[in-house]
Amino acid sequence: MQTSESTSVPTSAAPPTEAERRAAHEINKLSKRLHRQVGQAITDYNMIEEGDRVMVCLSGGKDSYSLLDILLNLQQRAPINFSIVAVNLDQKQPGFPAEVLPAYLKSRGVDFHIENQDTYSVVKRVIPEGDTMCSLCSRLRRGILYRVAGELGANKIALGHHRDDFLGTVFLNLFFQGRLKGMPPKLVSDDGRHTVIRPLAYVAETDIERWAAHRQFPIIPCTLCGSQENLQRVQVRKMLREWDQKFPGRIDNMHRAFSHVVPSHLMDRKLFPFETIRPTGQADPMGDKAFDHDDDEDDDACATPAAAEAGLPAEAAISLEALRRTLSPSSPFLPAQD
Ligand code: SF4
Repeated sequence: MQTSESTSVPTSAAPPTEAERRAAHEINKLSKRLHRQVGQAITDYNMIEEGDRVMVCLSGGKDSYSLLDILLNLQQRAPINFSIVAVNLDQKQPGFPAEVLPAYLKSRGVDFHIENQDTYSVVKRVIPEGDTMCSLCSRLRRGILYRVAGELGANKIALGHHRDDFLGTVFLNLFFQGRLKGMPPKLVSDDGRHTVIRPLAYVAETDIERWAAHRQFPIIPCTLCGSQENLQRVQVRKMLREWDQKFPGRIDNMHRAFSHVVPSHLMDRKLFPFETIRPTGQADPMGDKAFDHDDDEDDDACATPAAAEAGLPAEAAISLEALRRTLSPSSPFLPAQD
């Protein structure tokens, strides 16, 4: 009798190449950054609390897949208990691959619900050919998702908007609406019954793109409805991408600025009572120095020649505040010395 037993010694897998090691290191860094940023946003805005049921809206795009993926990971590590239910609204757009999301969600073992509502036909019927359909479409979608959240017992609705969506909205409002307004990380739904949260509020879109590619999410194209994306939004997104490439750090700085707003240095009388302010006679070291430049570089540029003119050593220019006090200790425009 012939035996089929093999006598060959099993070979171990080849060790990773330098390029593979570097790629794994980069993905590890990306993973840590994404989870840290989402965890930070959740904490900063108190987005998720003990006992919450979070409905994650899943469109099949890279943003919502990443949101669900990261929330599932954080759920394992969080010191609090909350549940997650993923919801997709199948709007019956032609060619929508209805089997993709259920298959993915089953493979992840996630509690989910697919809501079938033919909003596509409604929008097509109501909106004249060639007009943009997004406004009615998203209004219908919002109403349906709020209702579904109620039916599923979800008190939080999580959306996949990220840092660049926030900035894009800021610039659209700035350029075309004359308003300084973005996209809040947390708000109460317009029916007053749910809290809407955006846990990706600190996350860069490029990081989400990399994460989605790494995790190989089964992305569903977002052009099935045939609607043209808002041209102004496309242009603003292009502008931000170009800035990000030409001026590293600018996008981060702009984004950070919206968490460091100084109402007294803007012009909105609803936010700051300019008409009622009066001198108090009390020095305030944090008060405004109305005649000074506002950035450190300009301060240094002024301080250096002023120090030389006063016959002071160059080190005196290091602190403009110190220089000012040294030059005119009794000036009525300066706070009293301690
Ligand atoms: S792009 Fe299509 S699916 Fe998205 S809001 Fe506009 S009409 Fe609706």
